[in-house]
Amino acid sequence: MDVERVADDVGNPGRLVHIERPEDWAACSECGVISTSVRQRRTTRPRDLPYGQETLGVRWHKRQFACKEVLCARKAFTESIAEIPPRARVTGRLCRAVARQVASGRSVAAVSREYTVGWPLVHRHFAACADALLIEPEAPRVLGIDETRRGRPKWIKSEVIGRWARTELFEINFVDLSGSGALLGQAAGRTGKAVVDWLNARGEDWRSQVRFVAIDPAACYRTVIRQALPHATIVVDHFHLVALANKALTGVRQRVTREHRGRRGRATDPEWANRRRLLRGRERLSERTFTRMWNDLIDHEPTGQILTAWVAKEELRALLACAREQAPRSVSLTGCFGSCRGAPIPASAS
Ligand SMILES: [Zn+2]
Repeated sequence: MDVERVADDVGNPGRLVHIERPEDWAACSECGVISTSVRQRRTTRPRDLPYGQETLGVRWHKRQFACKEVLCARKAFTESIAEIPPRARVTGRLCRAVARQVASGRSVAAVSREYTVGWPLVHRHFAACADALLIEPEAPRVLGIDETRRGRPKWIKSEVIGRWARTELFEINFVDLSGSGALLGQAAGRTGKAVVDWLNARGEDWRSQVRFVAIDPAACYRTVIRQALPHATIVVDHFHLVALANKALTGVRQRVTREHRGRRGRATDPEWANRRRLLRGRERLSERTFTRMWNDLIDHEPTGQILTAWVAKEELRALLACAREQAPRSVSLTGCFGSCRGAPIPASAS
């Protein structure tokens, strides 16, 4: 950076630094051909670090050159220096300083207030510094892939079609399920492409070490994972299996109410009053609560379908617990499928 002159900032206690490039030429940013033909001059005022107690104003006197190369699509270009890249409104020095401050443990908001620069700018420069320091996570034997929604859904009116549309931001999380359960990485969106891009960025050797991939059964990732990790076995994680069992149980409860009462559930219906207890794990119900729920349903639901669905859900949970403790599978599978098969519930309805 060539400082042309330093002057007192008229009307301010601080100093003013004028910057100019000494060369009378610049290379075109598009084609690299050198030009000496100045078209116009502009002065910008990028923000900089303070000088001790005083403020330091920067005036960057930059020139726009004409590109004389006939094959170049760009007719004009503006010169830049490493400390003040094109369109930058702060100096590189200030960016590095705010990133160091956040890295030392201060919050992004506090640093952005102190230096009176925007929160996104501080965060962006800190993230860029942190990315350079991050080490590549080791490949897990069991990789978990799941999505989470960021924030609340927003309704945005489309200018083109004039309709309101619900927009949601999703993030895909990659977790080590065989080791510490650590978060290995995140990708924006909820598409198969985002999953493949993240996996491809890890490299061939990393991917070859993954033996199992646990996913949400409703997700659209199965096809892309088969292609990206052809040697890995795809499994459904326990959380989502139990979520499906709970959904089926709720479906049975609602159907039974419709069939027997000819309407939707109400607070006075015992099965509706117990709707949340039915979804809770057996071990999380006290003996008193469990007995009340059980007797309510025995007394007021003559078909026994809701309790049967509840038993099937609990047996599925017990089976999954066995898998975690590596108990003999045949015993527990027989119990679970036995109660599902003998249930007086039409398969399509449950
Ligand atoms: Zn050019």
